[in-house]
Amino acid sequence: MTIDHAAVRPSWDCVVCDQTWPCDPARESLRGEMPLPELATYMWSRLDEAVFDLPPTPSAVLFERFLKWTR
Ligand SMILES: [Zn+2]
Repeated sequence: MTIDHAAVRPSWDCVVCDQTWPCDPARESLRGEMPLPELATYMWSRLDEAVFDLPPTPSAVLFERFLKWTR
């Protein structure tokens, strides 16, 4: 899998455009890389990692950022 717009840990900003990851280009290429169920699973595991790195963030915000767009 080759995604240029990758997350930098522990900030979880995009390495290319400095937006919070996943930025729009990252979402687009992730959508193109894998079928939706696989994408949702992948984003769950990224969310799981991000929770350890990010300052306390409401789960609704994290859900919106990491998972809502995968549907
Ligand atoms: Zn980006």
